[in-house]
Amino acid sequence: MHVLVLGAGVVGVTSAWYLHQQGHQVTVVDRQSQSGLETSYANGGQISVSHAEPWANPSAPVKVLKWLFQPDAPLLFRPRLDPYQWRWALSFLTQCTSAKAAHNIRQMVNLGTYSRDCLQALRRDVGIEYDHLEKGILHFYTNPAEFDAAMEPARIMRDLGCDRQVIDAERAVQIEPALQPVRHRIAGATYTADDESGDARAFTQALAKSCEEAGVKFVYGTEALDFDRAGDRILGVQVVNEGKHQILRADSYVLSLGSFSAILARKLGLFLNIYPAKGYSITVPVKNPDAAFNVSLTDDEYKLVYSRLGDRIRVAGTAELNGYTRDLNYTRCRAIVRRSAELMPEAAYWDKSELWTGLRPATPSNVPYIGKSHFANLYLNTGHGTLGWTHSCGSAAALADIVAGRKPEVDFTFSGL
Ligand SMILES: Cc1cc2nc3c(=O)[nH]c(=O)nc-3n(C[C@H](O)[C@H](O)[C@H](O)COP(=O)(O)OP(=O)(O)OC[C@H]3O[C@@H](n4cnc5c(N)ncnc54)[C@H](O)[C@@H]3O)c2cc1C
Repeated sequence: MHVLVLGAGVVGVTSAWYLHQQGHQVTVVDRQSQSGLETSYANGGQISVSHAEPWANPSAPVKVLKWLFQPDAPLLFRPRLDPYQWRWALSFLTQCTSAKAAHNIRQMVNLGTYSRDCLQALRRDVGIEYDHLEKGILHFYTNPAEFDAAMEPARIMRDLGCDRQVIDAERAVQIEPALQPVRHRIAGATYTADDESGDARAFTQALAKSCEEAGVKFVYGTEALDFDRAGDRILGVQVVNEGKHQILRADSYVLSLGSFSAILARKLGLFLNIYPAKGYSITVPVKNPDAAFNVSLTDDEYKLVYSRLGDRIRVAGTAELNGYTRDLNYTRCRAIVRRSAELMPEAAYWDKSELWTGLRPATPSNVPYIGKSHFANLYLNTGHGTLGWTHSCGSAAALADIVAGRKPEVDFTFSGL
């Protein structure tokens, strides 16, 4: 079967890999000049099964209201005259009950654990390099109330098999000595030894190269505009390349356009509740390797994640629900640089920070759409929000099973839209 994958981010490229492994002929289409140039370009680098607590949880509504008036808030909702933004926000509120949050954690942990296993197997099989480290993720809290609030989600995650251990400041510093200068400020921490980190863009581009070598065709510089359809079947995708319009045809199609999946799906009358949540990252050269961390870190108070990528440091976080603009907001960038420099002044040349912003394809529940659509030959693998890199291999492996008519190996609620 010929499968056309729309999107060459980490989700589209992993989809292409697993579909090709199943024996399909695969073509990947992307508007950029190569893979991994949009949201998968400079993310936080964490493979974090332990980061499964969704944004929507019982404490979120009050926090989001408080943050409305704080320009450098970790999660900023900027109200617009956009019905899709309001629909997303209302749906987000309905996901904030304890029961919904617990259900969503289960989905995220199951998919995350399966995905990390798939990533490890893929690494063994393909042998790709992407500055990866298998040193776990240490999540530290400087606010005692937030640390207390993390106990219940951490317990739920442990019950689900994600070994997220609660530790004190002394143990945190033993695990990551670079935290020694701020030890007195740490109220507590959790440590998940099985989690990992690495450069998502390097991974995506290396895997795309392996796909190409295996026979997957990549069509770059090509924008998908609409679909050709007849009843419940997709007949082709209307695309434009350097002003030239054409229709690309295949037997089946996979939608993996990140935040833009929602826009293209609307052309089919298909509503996907995906809204862009703009995030920021800085990439900085390491200054003093002894003062820099190796264990990937999460700074709970500022909602920032830190990953060591060889001789660089990546710090990423914050979310702004403000439409599809990718403009850099310097107040938010400065807040990241300031906090990082304050915690680990000698670790990096903070004044040489390379700034980046990307649009997380966020769903209100943080749970992605993976599976069938109500078009017989259109599949979804999109809406991965905060954890698209963590969930990419597992989502793609499960999707390849669904396309083959097999039941995926992971306990997850797949789409049948
Ligand atoms: C600041 C930040 C930090 C993050 N940190 C982490 C982390 O630590 N761990 C983690 O697991 N996840 C993290 N994420 C989330 C993760 O990066 C995303 O979930 C993931 O990159 C989404 O991948 P994707 O393939 O769905 O989207 P993308 O990477 O955006 O890929 C979509 C592709 O579709 C193409 N495209 C779009 N529209 C069209 C069109 N009409 N025609 C043709 N091509 C089109 C784009 O060019 C792009 O290449 C972070 C995200 C951000 C923003």
